[in-house]
Amino acid sequence: MAPVAKSYDYIVIGGGSGGSGAARRAAGWYGAKTVLIENGRSGGTCVNVGCVPKKMTWYFASVNETLKGARNYFYDVPKDVKFHFDKFKKRRDESIVRLNGAYERNWDREGIQLVQGTAKFTGPKEVEVELQDGSGTVTFTAPHILIATGGYPMLPENVEGAHHGITSDGFFDIEHLPKKIAVVGAGYIAVEMAGMLNAIGVEVHMFLRGETFLRTFDPMVQGTMTQAYEDAGVILHKNYKGFKTVERLDHNSATVPGGDSHKKWTDGPSPHKQLKITSNDGEIFECNELLWAIGRAPVIKNLNLDKIGIKLTEKGHIATDEYQNTNIEGLYAIGDVTGNFELTPVAIAAGRQLSNRLFGPPELKGSKLEYNHIPTVVFSHPEVGTIGLTEPQAIEQYGKENIKIYRTKFTAMYFDVFPPEEKAHHPTQYKIICAGPDEKVVGLHILGEGSGEMLQGFGVAIKMGATKSDFDRCV
Ligand code: FAD
Ligand code: NDP
Repeated sequence: MAPVAKSYDYIVIGGGSGGSGAARRAAGWYGAKTVLIENGRSGGTCVNVGCVPKKMTWYFASVNETLKGARNYFYDVPKDVKFHFDKFKKRRDESIVRLNGAYERNWDREGIQLVQGTAKFTGPKEVEVELQDGSGTVTFTAPHILIATGGYPMLPENVEGAHHGITSDGFFDIEHLPKKIAVVGAGYIAVEMAGMLNAIGVEVHMFLRGETFLRTFDPMVQGTMTQAYEDAGVILHKNYKGFKTVERLDHNSATVPGGDSHKKWTDGPSPHKQLKITSNDGEIFECNELLWAIGRAPVIKNLNLDKIGIKLTEKGHIATDEYQNTNIEGLYAIGDVTGNFELTPVAIAAGRQLSNRLFGPPELKGSKLEYNHIPTVVFSHPEVGTIGLTEPQAIEQYGKENIKIYRTKFTAMYFDVFPPEEKAHHPTQYKIICAGPDEKVVGLHILGEGSGEMLQGFGVAIKMGATKSDFDRCV
């Protein structure tokens, strides 16, 4: 006899930022009978292999930078201050386990049923879960089903031996730092991880397809940050033509390739790794670790989406309208799986708005997330903060004659006591892009000490429609 389907108001697939935000709003605020299905660790990417361990590691690296800077303030800090990355990693892992528990306690307190297993669709209103404890499958039905399965870090398809490197997931498994690392990529993850590793003494080589990194950011950010990294000692291999093969010269540990189980795609980090990389133009590069940071792809492979006819975008993400509806009535998607601003607060906010709309009071029936003016920070060295349009985007949208740019450039006072040649390597630059006769601020780009923390305040002002004169009026 087929197992009896358990019926709920809301099935949420994925207990990451978006799924958790959506489930908690639905169950905790509106009492919707909610089941949350998760096949990994509670909290998803952000908590386990994303923002949280990243920010802790960024702080770890920042402490080293502060110690170095302290000598300029006449502190007797020895040149060879020892640190213990393995112990820090252990402490960081413990914090994450605590956070996993906090997520689960919150879900429990709010009456959310957590089911640990892998979900797939068996019908448009029906989900089958293969339970993680091996006890079989359970089937759930609900009028509303949310897909919040996130993304995974990609490996290149045409590089033989690519799996000998690691991805951002493997970065968080590093216990003993490699001496020399190749970082491939030019986006958030490549820049953040290269910056952290460089700040703690690893020889970092970044391989970029272009002249600059962060190419989707404003040209000011691209140019200044690329130069800042070179000044800080990161070795940039610009316009590289791609890698052909990666060989492991040391003892090669077994690898299990395949599927959406991306964690098994790579060897994982090893302090003994010796890699020989041959590029497409025949150059040989040897290093102790290789980090692929070339973007992320949606986790959809095993969900049976084709069976229920869910439409995907050209890039393979789940297509939704502005209300997070997929093309199938009662099925929604949020967060990284939709490829729309792959950021934790965006996934959470979209999930909350969706649950407001589905289960909230009548006045919230039109709730949706506004995807414009979303502030975002790159935890590079120094940090970068951005909201709204870049200069080229503003020109395209408003016409060159209708925009006005204001910029400033200075050395933060913290660096005033540094030797002049070092001072020059610590830029602070701000730029605002204004449009129309009232000079509405449509883009803001800042880099330098404290930019990350500073950005949120600007975010509120710009969301409220601040103009250049509002900025001027603020003392
Ligand atoms: P996820 O958090 O990935 O959650 C999806 C969950 O679904 C996972 O837990 C997965 O196990 C589960 N799942 C998948 N398939 C199934 C299935 N079939 N059945 C059951 N469960 C399933 N964002 C920021 O805003 N700030 C940052 O500083 C930042 N730093 C980052 C650093 C790194 C290294 C990375 C990789 C990302 C970072 N991000 C950051 C991005 C952020 O982590 C993601 O945007 C966010 O986690 C997306 O949330 P989500 O709910 O869409 O997906
Ligand atoms: P991104 O999309 O930000 O960047 C990937 C970059 O890799 C591209 O910009 C591209 O740069 C480069 N690239 C692609 N293919 C290749 C290749 N074959 N060889 C060399 N370079 C290549 O992806 P990430 O993986 O860095 O991060 C994924 C997302 O996670 C981010 O977009 C962001 O939304 C989120 N995130 C947010 C963070 C934060 O908020 N602080 C931190 C980390 C991640 P180019 O075209 O210039 O070559």
